[in-house]
Amino acid sequence: MACDLCDAIGGKLLWQNELCRVVLVEDTDYPSFCRVILNRHTREMTDLAHSERSQLMGVVFAVEFAARQVLNPDKINLASLGNMTPHVHWHVIPRFADDRHFPNPIWGEVKRATTPRPVDIERLQQAIVAALSDF
Ligand SMILES: [Zn+2]
Repeated sequence: MACDLCDAIGGKLLWQNELCRVVLVEDTDYPSFCRVILNRHTREMTDLAHSERSQLMGVVFAVEFAARQVLNPDKINLASLGNMTPHVHWHVIPRFADDRHFPNPIWGEVKRATTPRPVDIERLQQAIVAALSDF
């Protein structure tokens, strides 16, 4: 069975441990879009042990915290869909009121043409690593 998240890292690797990894997604409209991806192929959150669920969500919240610190977004969107790639992963998407789709989800109807604000990826990565120093 082919799985995009088993076959590849899924973006620029920002951090990882035994359970999961944090990657920066290649998306020109959303240059600070991160994903937290479970390292092994698992379909649903409830397939994980309780301790793993907690640890994974802790990583998601640490990425959210770091993104807020560095980017000061108007909103953070957290999403877990997996309809196309049924391998546990969480989207952490900093949103701005003037971004391409706001207030729609980034997968929804386009609201405006914009040039995304530049992101200091190194600074974002440093903040993520610092937020995850206890993991
Ligand atoms: Zn997989």
